[in-house]
Amino acid sequence: RIPVICIDGPTASGKGTLAAEVASTLGYHLLDSGALYRLVGLAAEREGLSTTEADLRDPAHAERMGELAARLDVRFTPGKTWLEGEDVTEALRAEAAGMAASRVSAVPQVRAALLDLQLNFRHLPGLVADGRDMGTVIFPGAPLKVYLTASAEQRALRRHKQLISKGIPAILADLLADLQARDARDMNRTHAPLKPAEDAVLLDNSHLDIEQSVARVLDWWHG
Ligand code: C5P
Repeated sequence: RIPVICIDGPTASGKGTLAAEVASTLGYHLLDSGALYRLVGLAAEREGLSTTEADLRDPAHAERMGELAARLDVRFTPGKTWLEGEDVTEALRAEAAGMAASRVSAVPQVRAALLDLQLNFRHLPGLVADGRDMGTVIFPGAPLKVYLTASAEQRALRRHKQLISKGIPAILADLLADLQARDARDMNRTHAPLKPAEDAVLLDNSHLDIEQSVARVLDWWHG
């Protein structure tokens, strides 16, 4: 059996950084499932397929979005993501890509289309999977499921600091509002809503730095 560590939680909780650190410490593979939903949003935009909530409510449009997700031509190389042969690493990190991902990820056909792709990330010696439904839907048998949280204010502050440090202008109040909108959409969707798995351990990192969070997860892992 290939061991899987799931790290789920809301937007900007630090899952990505934590998952990457734990994976590199253990020498495990990494699945950034959010990137897959971001890729669907980006691919849709490039094909001129609308990602507005109103359009996605149309069953025929939802079906088309699912088909697009099923034929996603994506390749991951160390530190880079390629869509149809083009380096989209930067484009994927943009706030707009996150918002589009949040809308398309509510479409059941999209979630179903990405299932096998996610399962295929399991390789020896193990996998760290980061997302919203890793522990509840994709890897329900995983021996360690971490549900990472921090207050919305803390998360908005961190994202703000991150953007400013990269020279990207950002308004804290707008970031907080976007993040709350994404939380609400992730938690209230009918299909695979964001919630801790029954057997998840909760980790609130509002007052922990990354090293402390990594140490906590490794302690749980080594039991
Ligand atoms: O984690 P990240 O911000 O990259 O995810 C982008 C969006 O994709 C999230 O806002 C969420 O709505 C969606 N997502 C999801 N299920 C996952 C990972 C991400 O619905 N497993």
